[in-house]
Amino acid sequence: LGRLFGPITQLSGLQETALTIVVCFDRIFEVLDLKPLIEERPDAVGLAKNVVPEIEFENVSFRYPGADEVSLPSLEQNVRAERERGKATPNVLRGVSFQVPAGTMTALVGPSGAGKSTLTHLVSRLYDPTSGIVRVGGHDLRELTFDSLRQTVGVVSQDAYLFHDTIRENLLYARPTATEDELIEACQGAQIWDLIESLPSGLDTVTGDHGYRLSGGEKQRLAIARLLLKEPTVVVLDEATAHLDSESEAAVQRALKTALRSRTSLVIAHRLSTIREADQILVIDDGGVRERGTHEELLTEGGLYAELYHTQFARPGSKDTRQAGNGA
Ligand code: ADP
Ligand code: MG
Repeated sequence: LGRLFGPITQLSGLQETALTIVVCFDRIFEVLDLKPLIEERPDAVGLAKNVVPEIEFENVSFRYPGADEVSLPSLEQNVRAERERGKATPNVLRGVSFQVPAGTMTALVGPSGAGKSTLTHLVSRLYDPTSGIVRVGGHDLRELTFDSLRQTVGVVSQDAYLFHDTIRENLLYARPTATEDELIEACQGAQIWDLIESLPSGLDTVTGDHGYRLSGGEKQRLAIARLLLKEPTVVVLDEATAHLDSESEAAVQRALKTALRSRTSLVIAHRLSTIREADQILVIDDGGVRERGTHEELLTEGGLYAELYHTQFARPGSKDTRQAGNGA
């Protein structure tokens, strides 16, 4: 009998251990809150490829996750979090509604801290809105697969993330099947080929802190080359050009023109030339859309845009291409 019970007891003992482990894991997850903020739904769908979609914000409000959502790992931090629990972080966006029709460009302008970058973060689904809906191609972003989202939305900002790897690998990440000719073509379109060609190892040059250090403008142009390879139908662009010399700035401008052609784009615009070319300008202030229209319409209106224009964009002696506005 003992022989029979022995294994059973052992088995149930095992089960208990397994249960304890599960419970422990639960606790760890509870404490560290490892639950990702952004999740892919099991029933997520993909957008039709090669269809240029529109972007729509419907009554979107957003605040960055605060102490009540994220418990922090250290005791000290937890105590601080506890103290701040219930104290809501401020809403960064409040009831934002607008549309970017398919294939058109919308420029975002406004003072620093207005919420422009936050707004673009919601389009690439870095965060989900606290309330309201962000749609691309008629779909709530939360209904889309990560794959589809990644293929559809391309982001170019100055702090483009580059892997510590060769330029080639950094480009292939955008289109793994790209041929040598396609890589070169994309680099030419992004006005970065002359530089790459001049490097002793060309496309096989290793980039990053321990390799060839690309300048802000060069990184941005490499990000544009990636964009040209990836061919996303939606482009989100932070135009910041603060530390570009005028030559590379002109090169970036030309590259972007190619990259934005017949895409749906949302651009945080700092250049008067971009703002003038935009199909629609949204003036963002204090987390909301304060004014909307074309350059001429908004100037006539004589509101915040007109004020920004006269104080920033049209400063005497300021070139069209110089950075205007602030708040990158
Ligand atoms: P803009 O791009 O127009 O200058 P942002 O969208 O960067 O404005 O910032 C809007 C507001 O959100 C600011 O008050 C800023 O301090 C705040 N903010 C930005 N990023 C974060 C973050 N990661 N966590 C908390 N608050 C943030
Ligand atoms: Mg910003």
